[in-house]
This record gives sequence, C-alpha cells and structure tokens, in this order.
Amino acid sequence: MDGIAQADRDDVDQRVGDLAELFVSAGWGFFVVGGVVRDLFLGRHSGDIDITTDATPADTLSILERWADTTWDQGARFGTVGARKGDVMVEITTHRSEKYHADSRKPSVEFSSKIDDDLARRDFTINAMAIQLPSWRLVDPFDGRTDLARRVLRTPLTPEIAFSDDPLRMLRAARFLSGYQLTSPVELENAMGVMAERLDIVSKERISEEFSKFLLVEHPSRGVQLLHRTGLMERLFPSSSNHENLQAQSIDLVSRDLELRWACFLWSVLQEGTLVRKALAGLRVSNATASRVGAIIDAARALTEAKKNDQATARRLLHQTRHDLEPAIELLNAYGQPPLPSVLSAIDQVRELEGNEEFRLPLDGNEVAELIGGEGPLVGEMLDRLMDQRLRAGPLSKKDATALIQDWRKNP
Ligand code: ATP
Ligand code: MG
Repeated sequence: MDGIAQADRDDVDQRVGDLAELFVSAGWGFFVVGGVVRDLFLGRHSGDIDITTDATPADTLSILERWADTTWDQGARFGTVGARKGDVMVEITTHRSEKYHADSRKPSVEFSSKIDDDLARRDFTINAMAIQLPSWRLVDPFDGRTDLARRVLRTPLTPEIAFSDDPLRMLRAARFLSGYQLTSPVELENAMGVMAERLDIVSKERISEEFSKFLLVEHPSRGVQLLHRTGLMERLFPSSSNHENLQAQSIDLVSRDLELRWACFLWSVLQEGTLVRKALAGLRVSNATASRVGAIIDAARALTEAKKNDQATARRLLHQTRHDLEPAIELLNAYGQPPLPSVLSAIDQVRELEGNEEFRLPLDGNEVAELIGGEGPLVGEMLDRLMDQRLRAGPLSKKDATALIQDWRKNP
C-alpha cells in the first residue's frame, strides 16, 4: 500500500499475518486499527498491535487458543481480548458501536458487525483508520490519511458529539496535538471550550493517566497552550491563576521526567508546593509523585526568592531543597528565571567544603535526651536549635554540640 514502507509492512505481516489467516479462514474480518495504522503511515514503530474484528470475544478466544502462548481478558464486557505469542502482543476488540448517555461516564457497549461503526466512535480521524489483513486494504471513511498528511486534528463525528460522548478526548487532543505537531480547527477548539465542564464526569484516574502520557511527549507545549486557550486548564486546576503569564514553551525545554514535567506545567499557574500537592491529590496522582512535584515547586520558589549569597543562606537552601535542587534549577532555566549566579556559586562552595550529603547532627535524639535528663518535646526543640546552629555556622563537632546543649539548658 502507498505510504507505508515495505519493511514496516513485512514487520506487521510477520507479527500477525498467520493470525489474520486464522481469522479469515474462520470467516471473520481482521483489521489492524487505530494508533498502529497512524504510526505505520508515519514510519513510527508501534509496540503492541491493536486488532478489530467482527468475531465475538468468545470466537476470538477460540481462535487465539490455537495461536497464542497466553491470552487474557482485557475486559470482555468491552469486547477486548489480549494475547501474546513470543514477543508479539495483540489486543483484539470486537467492532463496537457505543451508545452514550448524557449524564453517564460509562458507555453501554454494543457490538457491531461493521468496521465503519467501530471507526466512527474513535477519538480522532488520524486514529480512525484500519487496514484489513491479509489484503492490506485501507479502511478510512473519515479521511484520516489526509488529516495526517495535513497535520490536522479532527474528530470523525462532530467535535461536540465526540467530546460529549467521552470528554477525556479533549485531553487526548492536547496529547496528539503535541505529539504529532498538529493544528486544531476552530470548530474543535470551540467545542472544547463549550464542553470543558463535561470533564467533571471523567474519573480522576483516567484524567491523570492521560496527563502522564501527555506530559511525556517530546514537546508538550502545543497541548499546554490548547488547554489554556480552551479553558480546560481552569476547569482542571480551579485554584490556578496567572494564566496570562503562560510560557508554554518552557515545558519543551526540560527533561522528560514525569515529576519535573508536572512541576514545569504547573509552575506558570501555581507556585506553591501545598497548592500543587492538593491539586494533584485531587486528580488521584500518587502521593509519591504529588509530593515530589510539590517539593520541586517549593525548591524553585526558594531559589527565586534567595537574594543573599552568604554561606548560611546557601546551607539553608541546600537543607531545604537538597534532592530537588537540580530539577528546580532546570525548571527555572526553562522559564528564563535562573537563580542568581552568586546564590548558585555559594551553594557549590558549601557543597565543596562540607560535602554533598544531607546535613547531619553529631548528636541523635537519645544522646540529647541523656544530656538533658529526660525525653519529651524539649529533645526535638534542642535538635532543631542544633540544626539551626549547623546551618548558620557550619560543621559542628560532638564536643561543641554537647557544650551548646549544656549551655542552652542552663540559659534557656
Ligand atoms: P499511543 O501511540 O500513545 O498508544 P494510540 O492512538 O494507540 O496512541 P491508545 O490510547 O493506545 O492510543 O488507543 C488505541 C486506539 O483506541 C486509538 O488510536 C483510538 O483509535 C482508540 N481510542 C483510545 N482511546 C479512545 C477514546 N477515549 N475515545 C475514542 N477512541 C479511543
Ligand atoms: Mg496504543
């Protein structure tokens, strides 16, 4: 077929050609579908292969038993069966035509015998193409191929219907716009603006999962701008502000690390760790991720606020930001708001002189308790004072620390 390299074609035939023969000889259709077809036209390699067929899940399973090493139920209710043979993974879905209800997040799935019905319910025309095997006949009722060539993001049905049926598609729009350098027609953006509030019916888990994929594309900035332009950003992060200071392209400049990308994405609208952690917890992002993102934001903030370059200030910054210092600097550089060079060199100097490990005290809680003759809140207070001293004046010997505690006891 035109537009697909012979080597890519051979690769697909090699992976699933024999399986296609099994389906066809049993009287069923066999179509490679969705992102795989899009990526074939782009010459990009797809890992797993998505297949759609008019065979029911039960018929599919009985064919797969003759072919696969293992099969699993990927949600038979939705008509999807997964299978692996060697290192080939496939997901086979019975053609579907979904019916949605205006107030519900769950479609009621109906199986269909027509490939076109199945393609019509897919998110974008570039993802709504299928190739029938073994003939390699292209099925492209919504002209996804032209859209792909022209780099336009369109929905198979009207965008209002598409986004109302599954509002998550609005977030997917941000991902595909960025990942494939597409442009978005006015109708699509208008529909996003109007439908933004429908996102409320989408589960937080689906939203955050989609976000992770979006933030990890090479250059997410186009999608970031789209979310802002269409009001989706305010819908997703109601506590955010400063939308006019947006510097979307900053996010393209930082490494593809999920936490750093989140921090960079949110920095233009939320510059406070607590707000960021709250917003991410609201999206059911894992606690570990949310707290790391919050810590990067706090570190970035501390760095922008740091004006003095004495050693005590440098130690405080290090103590506060140690594990998040590098990503925070990367974030600020990407925003063109680098920390003051004098602050950074003071930090480097402290690291050089005092090592790069966390600041440790020469006495632990038990030792302090023994010195003051008892447990209790006073121990913690003394430890805090010792750390304060450590940050102000530099390394502290055990002897000095002991003397300080004894002195503080006498003159509280
Ligand atoms: P990727 O290369 O990132 O995996 P993809 O296009 O394969 O992108 P998937 O999320 O793996 O995306 O979905 C596979 C296919 O299923 C899509 O190409 C699209 O046809 C369809 N699809 C996925 N999610 C939706 C959705 N929310 N609404 C409609 N169709 C969808
Ligand atoms: Mg995929």
